[in-house]
Amino acid sequence: MTEPTHRLLALAAPQIGDLKPYLPGKPISELERELGISGSVKLASNENPLGCGEAARAAYLAAAGELGRYPDGGGFALRAAIAAHHGLMAEQVTLGNGSNDVLDQIARAFLYPGRESVFSEHAFAVYPIATTAVGAIARVASARDYGHDLEAMAALVSARTGVVWIANPNNPTGTWIAAEPLRAFLCALPERCIAVVDEAYFDYVEEPQYPDTSTWLDRFPNLIVTRTFAKIHGLAALRVGYGLSHPAVAELLNRVRQPFNVNAPAQAAAVAALADHAHVRRSRAHNRAELARVGEGLRALGLAPIPSVGNFVTVDLGRPAGPIDQALLRAGVICRPVANYGLPQHLRISIGLASENDRLLATLAAVLKRCD
Ligand SMILES: *Cc1c(COP(=O)(O)O)cnc(C)c1O
Repeated sequence: MTEPTHRLLALAAPQIGDLKPYLPGKPISELERELGISGSVKLASNENPLGCGEAARAAYLAAAGELGRYPDGGGFALRAAIAAHHGLMAEQVTLGNGSNDVLDQIARAFLYPGRESVFSEHAFAVYPIATTAVGAIARVASARDYGHDLEAMAALVSARTGVVWIANPNNPTGTWIAAEPLRAFLCALPERCIAVVDEAYFDYVEEPQYPDTSTWLDRFPNLIVTRTFAKIHGLAALRVGYGLSHPAVAELLNRVRQPFNVNAPAQAAAVAALADHAHVRRSRAHNRAELARVGEGLRALGLAPIPSVGNFVTVDLGRPAGPIDQALLRAGVICRPVANYGLPQHLRISIGLASENDRLLATLAAVLKRCD
């Protein structure tokens, strides 16, 4: 390392020293530029392969007429639409530039040096990043069958705990928590700890025991529920998500929220997406059929996918996933290795169009055969 680089890195806040940036899925354009290929498929970021609905696209395009103006910084129309959707008050809604932004706001509002946050092994990678970035300590509970072990998490809660992060369902494992154990966990959690239930994949889940915790806010004033427009609504490019909470909690988040954090076309498209129930139904039905088919295809290859309720499946390859992932990339199929989640032998595969899933299964079969 050159001397100035070294000196500049030493200027960072101490907690930034060990922080590793979030690893996103490789963009198609980057892979094709590197390999000089075309026609790749990306099954790496849990995007909706159907994209957004027509109404959302039309609202986005209509907003193009006002690009010279700042967006509504208070997000009046979108917060009203979200509040109506959940039967809550607009004062309970906090907008984010993606729900990731809301997670960051939560860390900045409730965590600081000397405080801790608790989450599960294999849980979403943003929880440790958001925690560490503000100088707080991450306390990680061992997973049980790849999922959250709520008893192990409860055992890590102490007087220093500021936030408990729960992903339901979890990314990258696709595991989920039923209403009863989750309610019991929240009942036992001291009210001075903020509980975050991250429901990024809420609309994909069809399990009868899966809870809608947005209906629990009256009971748990320390609860924050997060949702996103990036997944089933197919608006990942626009970066828009939200938190639902007690109004006082929302008011605290609002203090650290960047002004104008959600851009105007995103707000317009999100309002339209929320009302487009047909697109959500269509997307859910597509995922139901294709998730089952990809699972069968993986099992037919002798692999063991983790049962998933999301729009992705994580599969144990029984060997280090790196070389398999590299071989898939060379064949133009982008999946997500999850070694950074403590799963070095697993690969996460997002559910794509039927043709993309066929391509994944055929390419993986060929790669595994070659590597045997
Ligand atoms: C994708 C994802 C999010 C958020 O994504 P945004 O694009 O920032 O809204 C949040 N939590 C989990 C578990 C996710 O997988």
